[in-house]
Amino acid sequence: MTKRNNIHFYYHNCEEIVNKLEPLFELVNKHDFNIVDNHEDANVIISIGGDGVFLEAVRKTGFRQDAIYAGFTLGNLSSLYCDFSLENFNDLLETISREGMKVRKFPVIKVQVNGLRPFYCLNELTIRSTIVKTIVLDVFIDERHFETFRGDGMVIATPTGSTAYNKSNKGAIIDPLIPSYQVSEISSMNNNNYRTLGSSFVLDKSRKLTLKEIEDGNDHPIISFDNEAFPIRKIDKIEITMDDTVVKTVRLKNNSYWDRVKRMFL
Ligand code: NAP
Ligand code: MN
Repeated sequence: MTKRNNIHFYYHNCEEIVNKLEPLFELVNKHDFNIVDNHEDANVIISIGGDGVFLEAVRKTGFRQDAIYAGFTLGNLSSLYCDFSLENFNDLLETISREGMKVRKFPVIKVQVNGLRPFYCLNELTIRSTIVKTIVLDVFIDERHFETFRGDGMVIATPTGSTAYNKSNKGAIIDPLIPSYQVSEISSMNNNNYRTLGSSFVLDKSRKLTLKEIEDGNDHPIISFDNEAFPIRKIDKIEITMDDTVVKTVRLKNNSYWDRVKRMFL
């Protein structure tokens, strides 16, 4: 394996952040690392900011399978992906320069809209109504009709995304060691015309979920991949699967998934 020594920092280029980066860069230069501007030349990608910035960093660099990702926070400890700060940055650098370093692998979902090029999501896919009217979705599991949903929308979350939007909709928190994805409802209507399960459900990695929109001519759904909106007018079908693609992150003592969940919520 080539030496893991090229770091790309991903951050929002604003004065407030840039002013705080000097000590970070100094530490990097003390170790045997190069800071590279182009992420394609990097084998370590470090986001600076919160979880939202980490999600962006992974998406904008194309879910690199040959790179390690890490999240650096400038203060907020209530964060799922960002468990490095100036306090433990040395540990991070020492760990990633070690051969045989252990990595954590976060499963991601693969989403194909209308048969177009697939996209990966680290947190979740959502389909939501953008107007006061509801949307209607036919839900299929492995091509078999499961339910017809009517309401504000649905969230299809990865294990690490389960602590985000999914949790706000009463979804469970899933251990990322379980390669699976979870479907949660956003305000479903339940009556004699429309009936949904009413609870979240978790699908095994090997299953395929298909959502088909039932249009009535006055529906305006929006699709999101993590924190990015996917601009599309007409949704025929959305297919969700899970392959072997993962996001690799640095594994240190005291930063297990459940340590982070405790730190965030308890
Ligand atoms: P945002 O509106 O700033 O995010 C909302 C909050 O979710 C932020 O505090 C963010 O942390 C946090 N977050 C992101 N990923 C998380 C995760 N895996 N576990 C726990 N918390 C997480 O937008 P954003 O920062 O770009 O993040 C996008 C995410 O926001 C979406 O992927 C979605 O999960 C979530 N979201 C939640 C709701 C809701 O709960 N009602 C609605 C819309 C979107 P930081 O402050 O550290 O960035
Ligand atoms: Mn944010």
